[in-house]
Formats: sequence, C-alpha cells, structure tokens
Amino acid sequence: MSEKSFNAFKMAQQQFDNTADKLGLDQATRDLLRTPLREYSFSIPVRMDDGSVKVFRGFRVQHNDSRGPCKGGIRFHPLETLDTVRALAMWMTWKCSVVDIPLGGGKGGVICDPHHLSEREQEGICRGWIRQISYNIGPFQDVPAPDVMTSGQHMLWMLDEYEKIHQGKYPGMITGKPVGVGGSLGRTEATGYGVIYTVREALKDLGLDIKKSRASFQGFGNVSQYAIRLFVEYGGTPVCVSCWDQEDQTSYSFRKTDGFDIDELLEITDRFGGINKEKAKSLGYEVLPGDAWLEQEAEILVPAALENQITGENVSKIKPSVKLISEGANGPTTPEADNYLKEKGIYIVPDFLANAGGVTCSYFEQVQCNMNYFWTKQEVLHNLDTKMTSAYRAVADLAKKQNIYMRDAAYMISVQRVAESCRIRGWV
Ligand code: NAD
Repeated sequence: MSEKSFNAFKMAQQQFDNTADKLGLDQATRDLLRTPLREYSFSIPVRMDDGSVKVFRGFRVQHNDSRGPCKGGIRFHPLETLDTVRALAMWMTWKCSVVDIPLGGGKGGVICDPHHLSEREQEGICRGWIRQISYNIGPFQDVPAPDVMTSGQHMLWMLDEYEKIHQGKYPGMITGKPVGVGGSLGRTEATGYGVIYTVREALKDLGLDIKKSRASFQGFGNVSQYAIRLFVEYGGTPVCVSCWDQEDQTSYSFRKTDGFDIDELLEITDRFGGINKEKAKSLGYEVLPGDAWLEQEAEILVPAALENQITGENVSKIKPSVKLISEGANGPTTPEADNYLKEKGIYIVPDFLANAGGVTCSYFEQVQCNMNYFWTKQEVLHNLDTKMTSAYRAVADLAKKQNIYMRDAAYMISVQRVAESCRIRGWV
C-alpha cells in the first residue's frame, strides 16, 4: 500500500487541477482547495496490557468546511500515512458536495494494527485520539465516522470520552453508532441501496428496462449484498458475483446465468463476504476465476470490492452487452481503463456519486442526533432515495448538456459548489 498511498494525495491534486482547468478557477481558489484547510498530527500514549506504554501516531485532516462541518471516517491501519489521509479528506469534500449535503470533507487515522491489539488497548487509542483533538472536532465542526478497521464500538468509546471532556451529551459529534445509542436505521443498507438508486435512474436514461437487465458484481460484502437485494426487488437479474477466498488466497466468481438467489448465497457466506465454493458448486453455481465477473454477458457491472480492479489489462474483456458501470467501491477503475471506457462510450456512475449513500445516511444520523428524534427505516430510505436521485440527476443532466463524461461532470459539479461557497463567504 505504501507507494500507492504515498501517491494518493498527488493523484487527488491532479484530479482537482484537471477540474479546476475545466472550470477556469482563479489561482486563489485553486491554492485554497488543492491543500487541506487544517491538519492535525499527534501522539497518543497508551498503557498496554503488559504494563508498558506505547506511543501511537494519530491524524485528523480537515480539507474544507465552507459548506458545513467536516465529515469523514477514522481508519486504523499499520501503513496509514498523512498523505493518504489528506487525499481521502479531499475526496470526502467532493463526495459530500456531489450529493449536496451541507458538510465538508475530513478524514482521520491512527498508525496501528488492530489485529495485534486487545479490545482494551484499542479503547485506549480511541480515547487518546479524542483527548488530543476534542476541541477541534464536534457536531458543528467536524464529525468522524467508522472506516477501515474501526466500528460502532470504537465510535462509542470516542463519543464517551468527548462527552466526559465537554460535560454533556453530544451524540451528533460522531456517526456510525449502533442503533439504540444514537445510530440511524438504514445505515447498513444505505451504500448498496444508494448504488442501485443511481442504477435505476441511469437505466431510465439509457432506455433500458431494469426488469430485463442482468448485472455482475465484484465483491459480496456490505455494499454488494444490499445492492443485489434492491436490484432483485426492482426485478433485475444478478448473474455473477465474485469474492476473496481466505483459504486459497485468491478470488473466485460464482455464476448462474439465469440468476441467483441472494438468500441462498448468504447462507453459504462468512461474515467477511467470502462464499464457500464447495457448497456453491453443490447448489449449481459455476465457480470461475476471480476476474470472470468482469467478462459476463450482462447489461450492468458493479465493482464493489476494492480499488484498481478495472485496469488497462482487463478492461477490453468487458462484453459489448455492458451498457452501464456503477462504481460501488472507491477508485475501482484505473485512469488507463477509465480512458478506454470514455472512448467506448460506456456509461458510468462514478464512485463518489454511486457510493455516497453511506455518507448521506451518516448525515441523516447526525441530523437525527442533533434533533434527538429518530426516523423510521422507511423515512431514512425514502430520504436517501430522494437525495441520491437528485444528485444523480444533476450530474447526468450536466453530462448530457455539455456532452461530457459522467466522472468529469460529477467533479465539475462538486468542485464548483465548494468553490462558490468559499467565494460567497469571502474567503477568496
Ligand atoms: P466488505 O469488507 O464488507 O466486503 C468486501 C467484499 O469484497 C468481500 O466479499 C470480499 O470477499 C470481496 N473481495 C476482497 N478482495 C477481493 C478481490 N480481490 N476480488 C473479488 N472480491 C474481493 O466491504 P464493503 O463495505 O462492502 O466495501 C466495498 C467497497 O466499497 C470498498 O472499496 C469500500 O471502500 C467501498 N465503500 C463502502 C462503503 C460502506 O458503507 N460500506 C461506503 C463507501 C464506499
């Protein structure tokens, strides 16, 4: 990860520069938006189970808060770097902006490996992280959330420490909390459902009937499972899904060309989204190599596993039947593959629009916490659909009007909104 993540910030800046050129942004706005507004880097001393003290490095980066409090996860990772956190914070600014929620972009991290830490030691890191930054985050400043290797439990330890310091109840200072202690219903479904709300709208634009559409998915975790469920509810046919096999240390694709039953597949899937291949075979699935999900006769592809999966090497294997790619994962398409898709005229819903259902629901969690009044799941999902649909509409309309690629249109809308809020605040 180190080289890739070292370059992540440069890549994010490059994407921003390209968009700034297209929008003709002035120099001051470029200078303001291509670097974070604020960065915090600090030490977290933690008493370990063996009595020794270990010092961990923690970060929080606030890229831009001109549209509202910063929002973004906290990652626990042994290879975390400040540059990765900077890039991710910038991407959060664009993601919140493209779905038009009143939040800015932030991201945090701690260099640590939870696999080698006890629960109590992890609690120490969470509480220590908050003690270092508790006056620079909060419901109206910057609202963290779970991310890689952090969970609702970590968020609750952080909330508890924050409330001790600030002597009150502030459930809106952090999201991703379990339901019943300030969490929102619908969060589990939100990202996957959001992907399919945009698929539904894109199919309308392409003149395709969802009931006659087939889709192939990469990954069978949180995003993919709920995406498949809603796709099936709308009458679509999922024909293939891939996942990582922990035992064999490789990936496989599972195919049923006339459509598979998600509940049946879930029964033979572990909690990490790994499908048991022997049981799958006995249920009539064809077990194919990992890349096969990309090579299917289908109208829709949904990469929902990892970054850099559709590459210059495999992109030409996409069948002519594919009319739409909706990016559930973050960064699943490399720049080389992206150019190919652009040239071929394959319609895409870019990652930071397609998978924005998660952050939108986190925003709803914050709203409900600040009101201290919680919505039904139906209300959450209805509001999510409304937000995702109007965000998709704005991007698709601009792409059509200016005859530009969907990813470019999404960047232009989000950067323009942030630039405009900086301008009317009088910052630039
Ligand atoms: P997850 O951990 O629940 O599931 C990941 C799935 O991908 C598993 O089924 C795993 O077996 C599979 N996988 C891993 N490596 C693979 C490989 N090489 N080939 C095929 N399959 C592979 O993760 P998730 O929460 O579903 O997230 C998936 C992607 O979506 C990530 O890129 C994540 O950053 C992004 N995302 C998630 C959310 C969210 O709310 N969960 C929000 C925005 C973006």
